[in-house]
Amino acid sequence: MMKLLLALTLCSCANAFETLGPRWDESPLVYQVSGPWKLRRAVDLAVAKWQAASGNEIEFCKQKGAVVSVTVTWIKHDWPVDRSIAAFTVFVVRESAIVSAAVSINAEHYRWRRHASRIVCAHIYHNLDAIVMHEIGHVLGFGHSRDSSSVMFPSPIATDLSADDMAGIQFLYGLGG
Ligand SMILES: [Zn+2]
Repeated sequence: MMKLLLALTLCSCANAFETLGPRWDESPLVYQVSGPWKLRRAVDLAVAKWQAASGNEIEFCKQKGAVVSVTVTWIKHDWPVDRSIAAFTVFVVRESAIVSAAVSINAEHYRWRRHASRIVCAHIYHNLDAIVMHEIGHVLGFGHSRDSSSVMFPSPIATDLSADDMAGIQFLYGLGG
């Protein structure tokens, strides 16, 4: 078993989409969100966009009583890593497949709003939809992209998948992938 920590930091990264290696072999992925309504809404939208881009080859669902594979947690106290890190994803890999993933959102040191880029005080409020799209990309097995239109850009502002993100999800999970 291997644990990977993916931190959101400013860096220059590889060209276009980049996979981390392992991917999920099972679908649907049962996910659970712990946090305010705006986070639940952002996660529901993000997983729907990624799922649609995969041609439903990878599916997400919220099934009560099922074993949860993906958690997204809003952390307001005792943020466990450096305060400059806005969010991170940890996943567990077993025999080359991702078997669980946990996303943490830093609500202790950052203030989040949905579609913050449309708000005058965008420098104060960070874009929750963009960060959630980005972290779900990590959950699915993607690394960073240096394309600023990609949701996998290290400091993401995009809330919709770019053509390159679409190519990435098709590569990893599309028919015959
Ligand atoms: Zn990242």
